[in-house]
Amino acid sequence: MRLVLLGPPGVGKGTQGRHLAREHRWALISTGEMLREAVARQTPLGYEARKTMEAGLLVGDEVMIGLVRERSNDADAREGFVLDGFPRTVPQADALDSMLQARGQRLDAVLGFDAPREELVRRLSARRECPVCKRAYNLATAPPPDGGHCDDHPDTLLIQREDDSEATVRRRLEVYEAQTAPLLEYYRGQGRLRKVQAGGTVAEVYRSLAEALGCREESV
Ligand code: AMP
Repeated sequence: MRLVLLGPPGVGKGTQGRHLAREHRWALISTGEMLREAVARQTPLGYEARKTMEAGLLVGDEVMIGLVRERSNDADAREGFVLDGFPRTVPQADALDSMLQARGQRLDAVLGFDAPREELVRRLSARRECPVCKRAYNLATAPPPDGGHCDDHPDTLLIQREDDSEATVRRRLEVYEAQTAPLLEYYRGQGRLRKVQAGGTVAEVYRSLAEALGCREESV
Protein backbone atom coordinates (compact mmCIF):
# COMPACT_ATOMS: atom_id res chain seq x y z
CA MET A 1 0.00 0.00 0.00
CA ARG A 2 1.07 3.56 -0.64
CA LEU A 3 -0.27 5.95 1.94
CA VAL A 4 -0.06 9.61 2.82
CA LEU A 5 -0.47 10.81 6.41
CA LEU A 6 -1.91 14.29 6.30
CA GLY A 7 -2.47 16.62 9.24
CA PRO A 8 -1.07 19.51 11.27
CA PRO A 9 2.25 19.33 13.12
CA GLY A 10 2.02 17.52 16.46
CA VAL A 11 -1.04 15.48 15.54
CA GLY A 12 0.85 12.17 15.82
CA LYS A 13 1.64 11.35 12.17
CA GLY A 14 5.23 10.42 12.98
CA THR A 15 4.36 8.07 15.87
CA GLN A 16 1.51 6.39 14.00
CA GLY A 17 3.48 6.20 10.75
CA ARG A 18 6.33 4.47 12.56
CA HIS A 19 3.99 1.77 13.98
CA LEU A 20 2.14 1.31 10.70
CA ALA A 21 5.29 1.00 8.60
CA ARG A 22 6.91 -1.40 11.05
CA GLU A 23 3.84 -3.64 11.27
CA HIS A 24 3.44 -3.95 7.50
CA ARG A 25 7.14 -3.70 6.55
CA TRP A 26 6.48 -0.66 4.43
CA ALA A 27 9.09 2.09 4.15
CA LEU A 28 8.47 5.12 6.35
CA ILE A 29 9.31 8.24 4.38
CA SER A 30 9.39 11.22 6.70
CA THR A 31 10.54 14.30 4.83
CA GLY A 32 11.03 16.31 8.06
CA GLU A 33 13.28 13.52 9.35
CA MET A 34 15.26 13.45 6.09
CA LEU A 35 15.79 17.21 6.30
CA ARG A 36 16.82 17.09 9.97
CA GLU A 37 19.38 14.40 9.11
CA ALA A 38 20.73 16.56 6.29
CA VAL A 39 21.04 19.49 8.72
CA ALA A 40 22.85 17.30 11.28
CA ARG A 41 25.24 15.97 8.63
CA GLN A 42 25.79 19.49 7.28
CA THR A 43 25.14 18.48 3.70
CA PRO A 44 24.37 21.15 1.04
CA LEU A 45 20.66 20.29 1.42
CA GLY A 46 21.02 20.75 5.18
CA TYR A 47 22.56 24.20 4.72
CA GLU A 48 19.80 25.15 2.33
CA ALA A 49 16.96 23.91 4.56
CA ARG A 50 18.10 24.85 8.07
CA LYS A 51 16.98 28.48 8.27
CA THR A 52 13.65 27.76 6.60
CA MET A 53 12.93 24.94 9.05
CA GLU A 54 13.94 26.99 12.08
CA ALA A 55 11.54 29.71 10.94
CA GLY A 56 8.73 27.15 10.64
CA LEU A 57 8.36 27.76 6.88
CA LEU A 58 8.28 25.27 4.01
CA VAL A 59 11.32 24.18 2.01
CA GLY A 60 10.87 24.66 -1.76
CA ASP A 61 8.66 22.27 -3.70
CA GLU A 62 11.32 21.26 -6.24
CA VAL A 63 13.78 20.22 -3.53
CA MET A 64 11.13 18.22 -1.68
CA ILE A 65 9.77 16.56 -4.81
CA GLY A 66 13.30 15.51 -5.82
CA LEU A 67 13.92 14.01 -2.36
CA VAL A 68 10.72 11.97 -2.39
CA ARG A 69 11.14 10.88 -6.02
CA GLU A 70 14.50 9.35 -5.13
CA ARG A 71 13.58 7.89 -1.74
CA SER A 72 10.30 6.31 -2.86
CA ASN A 73 12.18 4.43 -5.57
CA ASP A 74 14.45 2.64 -3.07
CA ALA A 75 14.17 -1.15 -2.81
CA ASP A 76 12.56 -1.07 0.66
CA ALA A 77 9.70 1.08 -0.69
CA ARG A 78 8.71 -1.29 -3.52
CA GLU A 79 6.01 -3.12 -1.52
CA GLY A 80 4.61 0.04 -0.05
CA PHE A 81 5.40 3.22 1.80
CA VAL A 82 3.95 5.63 4.31
CA LEU A 83 4.59 9.28 3.56
CA ASP A 84 4.78 11.47 6.67
CA GLY A 85 5.05 15.20 5.96
CA PHE A 86 4.71 15.01 2.17
CA PRO A 87 2.90 16.34 0.21
CA ARG A 88 2.47 19.68 1.96
CA THR A 89 1.39 21.79 -1.02
CA VAL A 90 -0.81 21.26 -4.07
CA PRO A 91 2.21 21.24 -6.46
CA GLN A 92 3.79 18.50 -4.30
CA ALA A 93 0.56 16.48 -4.44
CA ASP A 94 0.38 16.87 -8.23
CA ALA A 95 4.02 15.81 -8.54
CA LEU A 96 3.41 12.74 -6.35
CA ASP A 97 0.53 11.65 -8.58
CA SER A 98 2.57 12.07 -11.77
CA MET A 99 5.59 10.31 -10.30
CA LEU A 100 3.51 7.29 -9.24
CA GLN A 101 1.61 7.23 -12.53
CA ALA A 102 4.88 7.16 -14.45
CA ARG A 103 5.82 4.05 -12.46
CA GLY A 104 2.45 2.39 -13.01
CA GLN A 105 1.62 2.84 -9.32
CA ARG A 106 -1.04 4.70 -7.42
CA LEU A 107 -1.69 6.25 -4.06
CA ASP A 108 -4.06 3.95 -2.16
CA ALA A 109 -5.28 6.26 0.59
CA VAL A 110 -4.72 9.53 2.38
CA LEU A 111 -5.25 9.43 6.14
CA GLY A 112 -6.36 12.83 7.42
CA PHE A 113 -5.46 13.35 11.10
CA ASP A 114 -7.03 16.10 13.15
CA ALA A 115 -7.05 17.38 16.74
CA PRO A 116 -7.89 20.72 18.42
CA ARG A 117 -5.24 23.41 17.73
CA GLU A 118 -4.57 24.32 21.37
CA GLU A 119 -3.91 20.67 22.14
CA LEU A 120 -1.36 20.60 19.32
CA VAL A 121 0.49 23.62 20.74
CA ARG A 122 0.54 21.95 24.16
CA ARG A 123 1.72 18.62 22.73
CA LEU A 124 4.48 20.16 20.60
CA SER A 125 5.83 22.33 23.41
CA ALA A 126 6.10 19.23 25.63
CA ARG A 127 7.50 16.99 22.85
CA ARG A 128 10.99 15.54 23.22
CA GLU A 129 12.77 13.02 21.02
CA CYS A 130 15.60 10.56 21.21
CA PRO A 131 18.33 11.79 18.84
CA VAL A 132 19.38 8.18 18.16
CA CYS A 133 16.14 6.28 17.42
CA LYS A 134 13.86 9.35 16.89
CA ARG A 135 11.26 7.93 19.27
CA ALA A 136 8.94 10.68 20.50
CA TYR A 137 8.15 11.36 24.15
CA ASN A 138 5.84 13.88 25.72
CA LEU A 139 6.76 15.39 29.08
CA ALA A 140 3.06 15.70 29.95
CA THR A 141 1.41 12.55 28.55
CA ALA A 142 4.18 10.02 27.78
CA PRO A 143 7.18 11.04 29.88
CA PRO A 144 10.44 9.11 29.82
CA PRO A 145 10.72 6.89 32.93
CA ASP A 146 13.64 8.78 34.47
CA GLY A 147 12.56 12.20 33.25
CA GLY A 148 15.25 12.76 30.62
CA HIS A 149 16.58 9.66 28.82
CA CYS A 150 15.35 7.32 26.09
CA ASP A 151 13.99 3.89 27.19
CA ASP A 152 15.99 2.10 24.53
CA HIS A 153 19.10 4.30 24.73
CA PRO A 154 19.51 4.98 28.46
CA ASP A 155 22.74 6.96 27.94
CA THR A 156 21.10 9.33 25.48
CA LEU A 157 19.56 12.57 26.67
CA LEU A 158 16.26 13.45 24.98
CA ILE A 159 16.23 16.69 23.02
CA GLN A 160 13.65 19.27 21.99
CA ARG A 161 13.42 20.00 18.26
CA GLU A 162 14.57 23.52 17.37
CA ASP A 163 11.22 24.23 15.71
CA ASP A 164 9.11 23.08 18.70
CA SER A 165 9.38 26.40 20.56
CA GLU A 166 5.93 27.95 21.07
CA ALA A 167 6.41 30.87 18.63
CA THR A 168 7.64 28.56 15.84
CA VAL A 169 4.88 26.04 16.56
CA ARG A 170 2.25 28.77 16.03
CA ARG A 171 3.92 29.77 12.75
CA ARG A 172 3.99 26.12 11.60
CA LEU A 173 0.26 25.82 12.34
CA GLU A 174 -0.44 28.97 10.29
CA VAL A 175 1.64 27.60 7.42
CA TYR A 176 -0.30 24.32 7.68
CA GLU A 177 -3.66 26.11 7.45
CA ALA A 178 -2.57 28.24 4.50
CA GLN A 179 -0.60 25.76 2.41
CA THR A 180 -1.33 22.20 3.48
CA ALA A 181 -4.95 22.13 4.71
CA PRO A 182 -6.22 22.73 1.11
CA LEU A 183 -4.94 19.22 0.36
CA LEU A 184 -7.79 17.80 2.47
CA GLU A 185 -10.26 19.11 -0.12
CA TYR A 186 -7.95 18.04 -2.95
CA TYR A 187 -7.92 14.42 -1.77
CA ARG A 188 -11.57 14.43 -0.63
CA GLY A 189 -12.49 15.46 -4.17
CA GLN A 190 -10.59 12.43 -5.49
CA GLY A 191 -12.38 10.13 -2.99
CA ARG A 192 -9.10 9.14 -1.37
CA LEU A 193 -9.38 10.88 2.00
CA ARG A 194 -10.10 8.84 5.15
CA LYS A 195 -10.49 10.58 8.49
CA VAL A 196 -8.56 9.54 11.61
CA GLN A 197 -9.58 10.76 15.08
CA ALA A 198 -6.23 11.85 16.49
CA GLY A 199 -7.31 13.20 19.89
CA GLY A 200 -6.84 10.03 21.99
CA THR A 201 -3.96 7.88 23.23
CA VAL A 202 -1.46 6.32 20.81
CA ALA A 203 -3.36 2.99 20.96
CA GLU A 204 -6.77 4.64 20.41
CA VAL A 205 -5.52 6.61 17.42
CA TYR A 206 -3.95 3.48 15.95
CA ARG A 207 -7.33 1.71 16.21
CA SER A 208 -9.04 4.61 14.44
CA LEU A 209 -6.37 4.44 11.76
CA ALA A 210 -6.85 0.68 11.31
CA GLU A 211 -10.60 1.21 10.93
CA ALA A 212 -10.00 3.91 8.35
CA LEU A 213 -7.78 1.51 6.40
CA GLY A 214 -10.28 -1.31 6.82
CA CYS A 215 -7.71 -3.76 8.14
CA ARG A 216 -7.13 -5.45 11.47
CA GLU A 217 -4.02 -4.07 13.11
CA GLU A 218 -1.95 -5.48 15.93
CA SER A 219 -2.32 -3.26 18.97
CA VAL A 220 0.57 -0.96 19.84
P1 AMP B 1 7.99 17.84 10.09
O1 AMP B 1 8.97 16.98 10.80
O2 AMP B 1 7.15 17.10 9.10
O3 AMP B 1 7.17 18.70 11.03
O4 AMP B 1 8.86 18.87 9.21
C1 AMP B 1 9.75 19.78 9.80
C2 AMP B 1 10.05 20.91 8.83
O5 AMP B 1 10.69 20.37 7.66
C3 AMP B 1 8.85 21.67 8.31
O6 AMP B 1 8.41 22.68 9.22
C4 AMP B 1 9.40 22.23 7.01
O7 AMP B 1 10.26 23.33 7.24
C5 AMP B 1 10.26 21.09 6.49
N1 AMP B 1 9.48 20.15 5.64
C6 AMP B 1 9.21 18.83 5.89
N2 AMP B 1 8.51 18.29 4.90
C7 AMP B 1 8.30 19.27 3.98
C8 AMP B 1 7.61 19.34 2.73
N3 AMP B 1 6.97 18.27 2.23
N4 AMP B 1 7.62 20.52 2.07
C9 AMP B 1 8.26 21.60 2.57
N5 AMP B 1 8.91 21.62 3.73
C10 AMP B 1 8.95 20.46 4.46
